[in-house]
Amino acid sequence: MKTSYKTHACGELRPEHEGQEVSLAGWVHRRRDHGALIFVDLRDNDGIVQVVFNPKQAQEAYAVADQVRSEYVMQVKGKVVRRRPGTENRDLPTGEVEVQATAATILNPAKTPPFYINEESEVDDLLRLRYRYLDLRRERMHRNVWLRSRVVKFIRDIMTDHGFVEVETPILIKSTPEGARDYLVPSRVNPGCFYALPQSPQQLKQLLMVAGFERYFQIARCFRDEDLRADRQPEFTQLDIEISFINEDDILSLMEEVLTALAENIRPDLRLIKPFPRLTYDEAMRRFGSDKPDLRYGLELADFSDLLRESEFAVFRDTLAGGGVVRAICAPGGAVFSRRQVDDLTRFVEGVGGKGLISIGLTGEGPIEQLTEEEFHSPMHRHLTVAEVRAMAQRAGAKRGDLLILVADEEYRACQALDALRRELARQLKLADEGLLAFCLITDFPLVEWNEAEERWDAVHHPFTSPREEDLPLMDSDPGRVRARAYDIVCNGWEIAGGSIRIHRRDVQEKMFGLLRIPPEEAQERFGHMLEAFEYGAPPHGGIAWGLDRIVMILAGERDIREIIAFPKTKTASDPMFGAPSSVSEAQLRDLHLKLDLDEGGARTSP
Ligand code: ASP
Repeated sequence: MKTSYKTHACGELRPEHEGQEVSLAGWVHRRRDHGALIFVDLRDNDGIVQVVFNPKQAQEAYAVADQVRSEYVMQVKGKVVRRRPGTENRDLPTGEVEVQATAATILNPAKTPPFYINEESEVDDLLRLRYRYLDLRRERMHRNVWLRSRVVKFIRDIMTDHGFVEVETPILIKSTPEGARDYLVPSRVNPGCFYALPQSPQQLKQLLMVAGFERYFQIARCFRDEDLRADRQPEFTQLDIEISFINEDDILSLMEEVLTALAENIRPDLRLIKPFPRLTYDEAMRRFGSDKPDLRYGLELADFSDLLRESEFAVFRDTLAGGGVVRAICAPGGAVFSRRQVDDLTRFVEGVGGKGLISIGLTGEGPIEQLTEEEFHSPMHRHLTVAEVRAMAQRAGAKRGDLLILVADEEYRACQALDALRRELARQLKLADEGLLAFCLITDFPLVEWNEAEERWDAVHHPFTSPREEDLPLMDSDPGRVRARAYDIVCNGWEIAGGSIRIHRRDVQEKMFGLLRIPPEEAQERFGHMLEAFEYGAPPHGGIAWGLDRIVMILAGERDIREIIAFPKTKTASDPMFGAPSSVSEAQLRDLHLKLDLDEGGARTSP
């Protein structure tokens, strides 16, 4: 953009600008003093261009260039010339030209930055966040922030083109639960009362359906006080969507269309699996041990339970008799894994809560049906018969040279262990096709899951998700078997979106609250507005929310959402640049009618 400081952006200059007098402003990316000439790579938002200072042509400008250092802010005037043949820089989009400076001004000097801005180097995370404004100057971060902005623009355009209305919903509201702890904000004017920051706009978007908007979206900020991981931040962004008069197919087809268009627009260099594979929750758990399987590679799980019921090996027999399972993964070529590699995998599985694993290496030549006693190797060799091993190998589609890795455990824990193992093996064996965006759709989640600690049923999705009509009677007799009208979208092993068809009738919603053991008075107190709204003509409706940060992370090729959030928090939910969260004055606390009680070793408030 042209301003009073610049006629052009540094990154925009090309041979067609040859001969033009330009004015540029930006940061000193790099300065090279060749004695007779000084070269400055000048950087601004749009890129980098080389500026040459020649004392014979512009003495004063040269004297300025002599003083500048990395990250000084300067303005340069000069003429665009073609570089001499052989001196072009193919790595720079502006590399065929340079600017011969005629005048230069320092707009602001800079201290030596705590880390390199002009090189990709490993920098301590805390230091990066402490100086986030410098970290964001680095090329990769700059690119990520821009990519995010393009994603958001694309979404706004496509959603509005599809007839969606964008509505902002309040941040100061009442708890709208998604299974995490709320962030609370004390009210000054209502002593003793608190707002809860929304964990999502769930109830508000449903109320917009009751209000007759039919197609809503919002780029919405959500707040959840929970343990942080690479894909979780205390505040994060959703593309939030709700639609009336739809079923699961309507919304999933629309999402497939929008995600395909987005991916093809932002990452035309990557391929997609089309149409997106659809798996039920049960199928995903059985084949991959996970409801967010990474489909960029195979490594499907095999179930050996029925093959081993009569096994002589007590671990198998007892596990199966107790209702558990024996499942396995086949590591292609893994028969050559060293003892140490297998031990490492065992420790890895134990680290994720598994009981351990049993490995069987398959060696020799010829069809697997002819495998002999001497041709399989396992620490548990004496407990296994060759017939069992042949049957297992055939079931798993294993070949000689492969390694079968078995887990015997209660089903949920076996899935957890094998899912982690599958991801780890894919990483070690580099099996993921990096040129692929493997989206898939997961449907038919269970409605509720048993909470052992609290001895009650919890909603798997949230309390507003509709059960399948035909499963309604099971809500009384066998809640664990009720299927929800819920769905997730997964990409490359990350859950990137989740949603459901909602309950829109008061009686069903009340029944659901009952199942979750929310007493009627509490349901009325917390969700009375929803129950009431359902009595004023609520249309059938459903929706979904994308974890926008995760999608941007995947499109940017990053592995941590902090790389695509301009100002994220650390893993302990703090901002080292601002020093947030921080203590507040006694006066502020008094205004809010609060007294701190920090007996449990919390930080004291400063007066
Ligand atoms: N509110 C849900 C969530 O945040 C998404 C949805 O059901 O639309 O996961």
